[in-house]
Order: sequence, then structure tokens, then C-alpha cells
Amino acid sequence: MQQEKTLSIIKPDAVAKCVIGEINRRFEQEGLRIVAAKMTRLTKKQAEDFYGIHKDRPFFNALVSFMSSGPVMLQVLEGPNAVALNRQIMGATNPKEAAIGTIRADFAESIDHNAVHGSDSLDNAKQEISFFFTPEEVVTYVKNTELA
Ligand code: ATP
Ligand code: MG
Repeated sequence: MQQEKTLSIIKPDAVAKCVIGEINRRFEQEGLRIVAAKMTRLTKKQAEDFYGIHKDRPFFNALVSFMSSGPVMLQVLEGPNAVALNRQIMGATNPKEAAIGTIRADFAESIDHNAVHGSDSLDNAKQEISFFFTPEEVVTYVKNTELA
């Protein structure tokens, strides 16, 4: 299957719940490799620019304020079909509609505090990865199946 890269953000609510490790365990278990990672706190401007597509939506100010309210874990995930696979592992935007066993079903409180972000298309993934990472910050490795 096609190897892809996608951008993942562990949002401030999930960081504060100390579930970074559990979320990353799920990604790795499902075949996604973490090929770049950066812990940071987004500025208001970064959050506004990143979610610029939603700037006319009623929830935009709340979204920007939440995304810049505390530290986030920015990551590039790589693997077969990574964009769609990550969205599947994340679950639906509204945790009340998220399938059992997904990250949002297990760790999100509400539609506006929903634990993780994931790119929604390959084109957006490329653009979002370059928003946060230089090419040099993204590494390459394959899973060592002899040790796993
Ligand atoms: P994300 O982009 O964060 O991965 P998503 O792709 O599942 O989420 P989008 O439609 O891109 O969903 O919305 C971006 C974010 O805006 C959502 O994660 C959510 O926190 C917030 N949001 C979306 N729709 C609503 C809504 N109706 N009410 C409140 N917040 C919303
Ligand atoms: Mg989205």
C-alpha cells in the first residue's frame, strides 16, 4: 500500500491528561511510524493561520483560543495509507459520534476539546507538515520486524 505522511497534533486537552504515550502507542500499534515530533505551544497567530480554512465559522475564535491555550505535540506520522488510517484511529470530530476504541471516543470531552488533529487529505497533509516542519526535521526509518 502507498506510504504516506500525515500531520498529527495531540491537542492541549490530551497533553494535559498525560495521554501522549497512550495515543502514540495506538499509532505505532496500527503501523504508523513517528518520523518527526516537536512539543510546543502555538501562538494565537499560528493557530489562526493553521485553521485559516475555518475563519468564517462560528467556532473559529474558540478553536484558536483552545489550540493556543497550552502545549501541543506536533508529529509527522508515516505508514501505509497514513492520512486515512490516522483519521480512522482518531475517530469522528464529535466524540459523541466517534467509534468505540478510537482516540476521540476514549479521550475527548467534546467537539471543541477533541484530543487530536489529523490532516484530512494528502494535499493538506503536505501543506500542514511544511507549516510546522522543515524537510531536515523529518527522519526516515523502517520498522525492524526482527526486534518487534
Ligand atoms: P481537526 O482539523 O482538528 O483534525 P476535524 O478535521 O475532525 O478536526 P474540522 O471540520 O476540520 O474537523 O474542524 C476543526 C476543529 O474545529 C475540530 O477539531 C473541532 O474542534 C472544531 N469544530 C468543528 N466543528 C465544530 C462545531 N460544529 N462546533 C464546535 N467546534 C467545532
Ligand atoms: Mg480538519
